[in-house]
Amino acid sequence: MSTLPIRVFGDPVLATPTRPVTEIDGRLANLVDSMIETMYDAPGVGLAANQVGINRRLFVYDKGEGPLVVINPVLVESTGTWVFEEGCLSIPGHSWEIERPNQVHVRGLDLEGHELDLQVDEFEGRILQHELDHLDGILLVERLDDEQRREAKRMLRQGVLRQRPDPDGLRQLLDE
Ligand code: ZN
Repeated sequence: MSTLPIRVFGDPVLATPTRPVTEIDGRLANLVDSMIETMYDAPGVGLAANQVGINRRLFVYDKGEGPLVVINPVLVESTGTWVFEEGCLSIPGHSWEIERPNQVHVRGLDLEGHELDLQVDEFEGRILQHELDHLDGILLVERLDDEQRREAKRMLRQGVLRQRPDPDGLRQLLDE
């Protein structure tokens, strides 16, 4: 096992919706192992495959009770509202209070190909929604309200833009 480089804001792979996993095999299991190691090393509580440059619909997470993988997740239903401070390994050093639905119902598959039926709320529900967004090519900054977005633009221009040689994706998003 080894850790994988985490792609950061501005990388086009993060803005690209992922394709479904078609085969659950040993290669996928190896990827999942590396993603879990990468998530703990970061450290973080969730990691989507496209955050390590793999365009496949799966993510790993740990709400504090051990690692789980969800393959080809689908959001069945979400209800309620909950505000929670949220960060992202692909936007290191930043976090924002974000309102999202509280209860979510997500279906997917585990590494054995068995169906997962997750009906969760609060922290775990938040992780699932954040990772589902990643797999749909949506980053945290797209969930900010207008005021947060203005502040984020300022911070990210000063931070990420300076570090990245080719921040076209970021510029596009910030200028839209
Ligand atoms: Zn994230």
